[in-house]
Amino acid sequence: MNMNKLVDSFGRQITYMRLAVTDRCNLRCTYCMPAAGANIVERKELLTFKEMYRITRVLTELGVNKVRLTGGEPFVRKDLMGFIKMMSYNDLLDEINITTNGAGIAKHVEELSKFKVKTVNLSLDSLSPEKFAKITRRDVFDEVWNTFELLEKSGLKLKLNVVVQSGVNTDEINDFVALTKDRNIEVRFIEEMPFNGVGKRAMDEVWNYTKILGEIKTGYPNIETLPLVKSSTSRLFKLEGAKGIVGIIPAYTRTICSDCNRIRLTSTGQLKNCLFDEGVYSIRDFIRNGASNEELKQLFIDLVSKKPKDGFVAEANRKKNKNVSESMSSIGG
Ligand code: SAM
Ligand code: SF4
Repeated sequence: MNMNKLVDSFGRQITYMRLAVTDRCNLRCTYCMPAAGANIVERKELLTFKEMYRITRVLTELGVNKVRLTGGEPFVRKDLMGFIKMMSYNDLLDEINITTNGAGIAKHVEELSKFKVKTVNLSLDSLSPEKFAKITRRDVFDEVWNTFELLEKSGLKLKLNVVVQSGVNTDEINDFVALTKDRNIEVRFIEEMPFNGVGKRAMDEVWNYTKILGEIKTGYPNIETLPLVKSSTSRLFKLEGAKGIVGIIPAYTRTICSDCNRIRLTSTGQLKNCLFDEGVYSIRDFIRNGASNEELKQLFIDLVSKKPKDGFVAEANRKKNKNVSESMSSIGG
């Protein structure tokens, strides 16, 4: 085994970390959390930026070269820009990507491209301001659309995340596809996961990968399927002559696990080998108890070697909460 790399027992090498920089959020998306908000932890339970920097540095010495900042809403964490600047000093890190809801971040867009930020994933589930307000329980469509337009002009790679919600926004799927005609963006349809922080959510109809693609084909029968990209979470498609592309992410049906290259760190420093596991180790406690970087490296090598084969195995291995019920805002969606 190569002692400087993170390789699991299925030969998958980990090169990507999703880092939840906070569990707090300024929106209340219905599929993600209850109206009153998810249970948030005390501030001292959250990893500090210094701790996140140190953990990331160790991981990059083990071959991780990309980090995605997520949450909660990353920009709700005070001085996120200062953290992005600090992370950009890590010479072993090639890319910082961000997933954001885009509310109130317009002022930061220009500065983002000065650092190692390459891609921004903007969550936008409806093109109708009224529907958007119902989904997010906040009236901020105009702000988010403004962010969208600024990002489009910024030179950063822009992906639009659309969670497909039965009976809510499925009628807009082809309006979103149409956005790719003259915009250099990737519109990504995400299968809704039936958990929102309060238990399993009943969904009348499951909009899985196949159904989403079926709907797209009713509008665009000749949409082209693009070749598979290794370790990508999405299957990609393109309209003839379009500037942008369309992706579908089988997040819940989990047909993408075999070449998974990622791990997650929650905002409280729990390592997750898989979105569907319950957290395998508190990295925060390990370092707060005085571990050295060498010990931390060894810990990551040991933990990653036990990464489950796929999301179904990870879910079955859960001890405490058999059903995945956590909010994506605490998992780091
Ligand atoms: N607040 C940021 C945002 O919304 O982009 C980052 C965190 S959010 C948890 C990350 C992504 O997870 C978003 O694109 C969101 O739509 C998605 N997400 C949250 N709950 C989900 C669920 N139950 N099923 C599918 N995707 C979900
Ligand atoms: Fe907040 Fe993102 Fe969850 Fe919506 S999906 S409530 S924006 S963390």
